Amino acid sequence: MKRKNIDELESFIKKFEGELPPEAILKEDILRQGIFFEEIPRDEKFSGKSYFIFSFNIDNDRDVISAKFPEEIAVINGPYDLRKTIISVRINKCSPYRVGYSKESGKFVLTLDGIYVADVVFSPEKSYMLEKTPSGKSVRDIAPTIEWGYLIYLAVFRMCQYFEVKEECGFCDMNSNYLNQKKHNKNYSAVKSIEDIIEALEIIGSSNDSTAGAYTLTGGSIIDEIKFKGDSEVDFYVRFLERVEDKFKGRWLSKVVVQAHDRKNLKRLKDAGASIYHTNFEVWDEALFEKICPGKSRFIGRNEWIRRIVDAVSVFGEYRVIPNFVGGVELSRPFGFDNIDDAINSTSEGLEFFMSRKVIPRYTTWCPEKTSALGKLGNKPAPLEYYARLLIKWHELHDKYNLPVPEGYGEAGPGKAEFSVSAFMDAFKVPSAV
Ligand code: SF4
Repeated sequence: MKRKNIDELESFIKKFEGELPPEAILKEDILRQGIFFEEIPRDEKFSGKSYFIFSFNIDNDRDVISAKFPEEIAVINGPYDLRKTIISVRINKCSPYRVGYSKESGKFVLTLDGIYVADVVFSPEKSYMLEKTPSGKSVRDIAPTIEWGYLIYLAVFRMCQYFEVKEECGFCDMNSNYLNQKKHNKNYSAVKSIEDIIEALEIIGSSNDSTAGAYTLTGGSIIDEIKFKGDSEVDFYVRFLERVEDKFKGRWLSKVVVQAHDRKNLKRLKDAGASIYHTNFEVWDEALFEKICPGKSRFIGRNEWIRRIVDAVSVFGEYRVIPNFVGGVELSRPFGFDNIDDAINSTSEGLEFFMSRKVIPRYTTWCPEKTSALGKLGNKPAPLEYYARLLIKWHELHDKYNLPVPEGYGEAGPGKAEFSVSAFMDAFKVPSAV
């Protein structure tokens, strides 16, 4: 049995000891490489992948979509004495990370290169996930929860119009995921109705096992208003926000993910009840932004996108503007950097630009979904060293500008973090968690 992957993991755990918790390094490695499940007994109860927006799978073929895999896993114990670490499940049939059932221990276990790494727990199935709305819609489908139940994810438009003009972001598989899901689930709709959302939220809100603390309202970009009966993107999302906030104000922290808008439209979002504004920047380097995000580049433009992010602080307040970067995509072929130093230097420049202006950029760990444009080019995950260094850099800058833990991401620190698609929340040095 080859030990290439486990040797690398262990060398990074050792190299970054004292700077990064082992949980954060393992999490990044699983997120970038994906994971596979050797077996899941049929009677096992857990929250299955709801394919709420992107596939987040490296492999996304018929076998994968028609099987039930957990939305997230938590890894714990094992030879590294891991504290509970919640990780989003990204299916990769060839991943060196495998989950199987150990008859010996009576538990699910994670192996790397065939070697035991940790015990595994699947994301819990909550009572509301099994409910149907009065109009017969599945609550799990209309209002799935992720981050171990902390975040209600309201993707109300599950396609993005940048695809229609062939200018989608290179790492994104949103529209192909929609089409794949639609083949397997007749009820999987591109646009959700406000009534369905309200009914599903009523069920979650009145359940006694919900631990939700926030919701995200999001969906694809809208650039063709004619197809939306004359609605602009802001018109469309504001209508959802107003209804949800009108009914549930204060029940959950509200977050909205849309394109970068001008101040007038930002005020509309804020007045409708948005507390946190995410307008994702994806990749900092100027040339890469144009190549990897052609729609964003043409319809709004990089400089304007940056200007609007900074301007949004005057509307939403300090630390309440949180743009996302897709960590690792700056190393993708054919346009990306060919070495880790340049990738880290470039992204650090972007992180510092925003953090010095009271914006808290965050990042998600890129996994090259095979049905995205970059996946189709055969891209492989960015190296683990890149992710370890990005984590250190993010926290160094976060400390330098004395920023708070970002709101709307649940708990921070190893053993506590709920955010499942990168380890930046796990790497906080929280006194009670170390
Ligand atoms: S803006 Fe880019 S990342 Fe977002 S849904 Fe559209 S193509 Fe995908």
